[in-house]
Amino acid sequence: MAEPRVFKNFIGGEWRPSASGKTFESRNPADTRELAGVFQDSGVQDVNAAVAAAKAAFPAWRATPAPKRAEILLRAAQLLQERKERYSADLTREMGKPLFEAGGDIVEAIGMAQYAAGEGRRMHGVTTPSELPNKFQMSIRQPIGVCGLITPWNFPMAIASWKMLPALVVGNTVVIKPGEDTPHSTFNLVECLHEAGLPPGVVNIVTGYGPTAGQPLVEHADVPVISFTGSTATGRLVNLAAADKIKRVSLELGGKNPVIALDDADLDLVMDGVLWGAFGTAGQRCTATSRLIVQRGVAAELTERLVARAKTLRVGNGLSPETEMGPIINQKQLDRVLDYVAIGKSEGAKLLCGGGRLTGGDYDYGFFVQPTIFGGVSRDMRIAREEIFGPVLSIIEVADFDEAISVANDVPYGLSASLYSRDANHAFRMMRDIESGICYINAPTIGAEIHLPFGGVKGTGNGHREAGPQLMDAFSEWKSVYVDYSGSLQRAQIDNEV
Ligand code: NDP
Repeated sequence: MAEPRVFKNFIGGEWRPSASGKTFESRNPADTRELAGVFQDSGVQDVNAAVAAAKAAFPAWRATPAPKRAEILLRAAQLLQERKERYSADLTREMGKPLFEAGGDIVEAIGMAQYAAGEGRRMHGVTTPSELPNKFQMSIRQPIGVCGLITPWNFPMAIASWKMLPALVVGNTVVIKPGEDTPHSTFNLVECLHEAGLPPGVVNIVTGYGPTAGQPLVEHADVPVISFTGSTATGRLVNLAAADKIKRVSLELGGKNPVIALDDADLDLVMDGVLWGAFGTAGQRCTATSRLIVQRGVAAELTERLVARAKTLRVGNGLSPETEMGPIINQKQLDRVLDYVAIGKSEGAKLLCGGGRLTGGDYDYGFFVQPTIFGGVSRDMRIAREEIFGPVLSIIEVADFDEAISVANDVPYGLSASLYSRDANHAFRMMRDIESGICYINAPTIGAEIHLPFGGVKGTGNGHREAGPQLMDAFSEWKSVYVDYSGSLQRAQIDNEV
């Protein structure tokens, strides 16, 4: 698979231009003079072609023994490892995050390829005794068909791998529509799968915009499964569009993740965790720390130290080894972050540092925002409740642990949450009472590993989990099988009446 600078759609193992002939550009958000790639601006005809290719490839792929499917994933993991440096640079160029973070994206895909490949030799169902004599019963996991995958721009390699690789090991075929800002990394992942021996049509990539390329995929009659990661607003639209055809829809949506710091916390640890959680990936993680809920006894000291450290963070082009925080992904997202800064000020929160666009020199060619901290935030302010998806931290002071939990839970989201405390009783109450899918003790809100389930509660999703032992659940059906070897009709619940 050659790597053209102009990327065509990858359909049925072939490169195909969009039916309309239209393309769009992806540019480096740290320096928009740099073109990261040209991609196809696809529409319904392209989606139809990709789904047809995936549908045609399904019977043979489904019939391939699962351990053989897994071998391809393992070979792809090896190729990803060998190309990690190059793929990290590609990812930084399209998404902006610093190189060391981009490497983490690739490592997640490697981990997921290995983990999903392991399922090729497990994929366990259950056997269970019957209530009747001479009867055997078991459950088996089966693929569903063509899975439609829609991904955002913030983890272009990792999120694509979280969806694609579990779907493939079960025996499904896929069509993926990556976020329009960052499609290159999806091509890199698929390049490895292709070279590892994936048959044509098993994975297809269609690039384009949400309404014109994403929506036709969601609505397509031959796509029974949709796995979507993105904003809550779009997730709702996707859910509605799929409801008519009773599709299986897995949604991973937004967050408003809190760190709770109690008076007995190790403040050095809190500092490191909050700075990494709030400003890593320029706050553009669904698990980013956007609220610091701090007990009054340590609030002043912690705030002062955090502000001092935030001011020293080196913001710049992610390709430079010096950079600690990269740019915002695009103009729209930059405007959104600056709008929220204005909202915070108008609500009466105190801007303690940052809050502005960085300009001058190379900054003028990218979308750079200063690391921003608001103090004096109350739980009902919009900056305390709504997802900003940028490097903006709101500090909320509370009297005690009970108030902290109440504030933490008082948002429409529930993805990740963290507690810093030396008190084991508080740690266990946190684990029990926090309304989130992921909970950390003495660690930041970011840092999920692929062998535990990932996902959230409330507005963050619809109950599905990615990764972890549940990784195949969204992409498979259970079939219960009963084998009666008694030679006579045995009526369950009737012939064995107690
Ligand atoms: P969006 O919801 O805007 O987009 C996500 C994907 O959906 C993109 O590929 C987009 O296409 C596509 N899309 C847009 N409209 C439609 C539509 N009508 N039908 C089908 N697909 C559509 O999110 P962002 O890309 O802006 O990502 C940021 C958001 O994602 C944040 O809110 C963040 O919290 C959330 N997120 C959640 C994660 C989680 O696991 N919970 C992880 C990462 C991010 P296009 O390329 O045109 O935008």
